[in-house]
Amino acid sequence: MLLNIAGTVNDSIVDGNGIRFTLFVQGCPHRCEGCHNPQTHDFKGGYVMDTDDILLKIKSNPLLDGVTFSGGEPFCQAHQLAELGRKIKSLGLDIVTYTGYTFEELYNNREKNNWGELLAVTDFLIDGKFVLALKDWNLKFRGSSNQRYIDCQASIRAGRAIITEP
Ligand code: SF4
Repeated sequence: MLLNIAGTVNDSIVDGNGIRFTLFVQGCPHRCEGCHNPQTHDFKGGYVMDTDDILLKIKSNPLLDGVTFSGGEPFCQAHQLAELGRKIKSLGLDIVTYTGYTFEELYNNREKNNWGELLAVTDFLIDGKFVLALKDWNLKFRGSSNQRYIDCQASIRAGRAIITEP
């Protein structure tokens, strides 16, 4: 299955707990002012990679604790990431997904755009647009204070966002 991506990082310690493989997808509709990855906005940019090749890269690093889907907007390629995510989880790795949408937007529209599929493989969701006026460098793994670190599976069960600490 093909994904349009901006790049990968093999051993990140800034995109969630532990040592993580981070996948930056290409394409984002949110256009947050002050975004740190403006090169990921263009849906026609980036390059195409097969999810099986991404999985091989992940498997080649035995030190990984998990995988992070970042962007760009992961929920614009929810079906492909969900399929990759199911294989990642079978390796015993956890999944952090960044999104410019809120949990409520995604959960309430989970039947649309395969959003529910990607929520189903996400352990921790970091949600919301980057808001320059709320920028705070002291926040772990987040850029602005409106963004939340959410226990995604507990939130799906409860039908509301369950915020937790990284
Ligand atoms: S959602 Fe993320 S990638 Fe998209 S514009 Fe906002 S900060 Fe940038």
